[in-house]
Amino acid sequence: MVEERKHSLSPSAWNRYETCPRMYWLSRQRLPRKAGMAASLGTAVHASIEDLLQIDLAGREPAESNWILGEADALLRKRWEEEKQIFHDTPRHPNWKEDKYREAQKQQKGAINMLLDHVGVQGLAHDRITIALWKKIQSLTIAVEGELVTKDGHLMGRLDLLLADVDDSGKLTGWLVADLKTGKPPQGKLKPEVNRQLRMYRDILLSNNEKAPPVQAQGWYTDTSSKWDAVGDNVLEAAYEAWDATKPSETPLDPTPGQSSCGGFCDWKAWCPHWWNWRHQNKSLHKGDFADGVVILHQYDEGRSTATVEECVPRNDLGDVEPTGQMRNVTFDGRGKEVLEALLDDGHQGPIFLGSAMMNREVWRVGPWCDVLPWAPIPDSGKP
Ligand code: SF4
Repeated sequence: MVEERKHSLSPSAWNRYETCPRMYWLSRQRLPRKAGMAASLGTAVHASIEDLLQIDLAGREPAESNWILGEADALLRKRWEEEKQIFHDTPRHPNWKEDKYREAQKQQKGAINMLLDHVGVQGLAHDRITIALWKKIQSLTIAVEGELVTKDGHLMGRLDLLLADVDDSGKLTGWLVADLKTGKPPQGKLKPEVNRQLRMYRDILLSNNEKAPPVQAQGWYTDTSSKWDAVGDNVLEAAYEAWDATKPSETPLDPTPGQSSCGGFCDWKAWCPHWWNWRHQNKSLHKGDFADGVVILHQYDEGRSTATVEECVPRNDLGDVEPTGQMRNVTFDGRGKEVLEALLDDGHQGPIFLGSAMMNREVWRVGPWCDVLPWAPIPDSGKP
């Protein structure tokens, strides 16, 4: 009962559930988390924009220009360093790519352009942004990084920006939920999962504020400084259904293996037997660049960073392994090598899961971006 009361669903958790209920369930099992460069970059850019919108400009000369570039970069650098630390503290992480900082700067500039656009200013060089202009943007900012929660606490989300829409006379005409996105901009229209996420923000806001003006939610894609409207009906009823279906349970939720779930980004394959059976059945196991596999390690040469492994296939749908006798040479480098060696130092002996390895070649390659984990599938009963 206590557990149940604490259960709340965010848009990203809902999306995970819609992609594959088992993926959602696994994500709640306190398994070792995975960090990624794209997510860290996005968080640093978000946080720096939020900081910039909250910067104290009291007492500054309104006509002062040539200030924002330095401030913005100092804030970004601070957030970047914080994210780097979090990234390295996350148990599963690839190599940190310092050269991505330039991309973060570009994305931050894209976000500033969209804020300028919100007050009707386009194409202004950032060194010409005055204190007065930034104060105007700040004055239209109702909330920054606000937590949105339904009154019953069941649905929640983290809202990047809530801005006031005003007409030419300065009169409030509506609220704008702007969600900063540092990923690839949409082609034609928002992806359904992003549209759903934005509508969830919109609808929680409306349900909590009976007297709210019209609310529009937009995805703000910093890469191209393009704004995309969320459109569609209220999603709260469907969100509550998902909340109900995702209540904490000892028994794993059903898997929906397939190309769009397992073939996309699922961080929990080392604990799921279903992608493995699905791949084996459709004969795509151990095929392709960035493929996943389960192997038994027979020999490892630390000096040359090469191993001889035996390919395994599923013996049943519990995740038990059937060695095939098919031997492979594998090279390990970067984080892939470090993690394998740590695993061997820990005395690991059983089968090993290799995630996103390059298998389209004579000698497989396990590089810095790969997962190397003990194969520890959780069967459908939940009891390993
Ligand atoms: S590997 Fe596939 S079936 Fe298993 S949890 Fe992930 S998406 Fe679902």
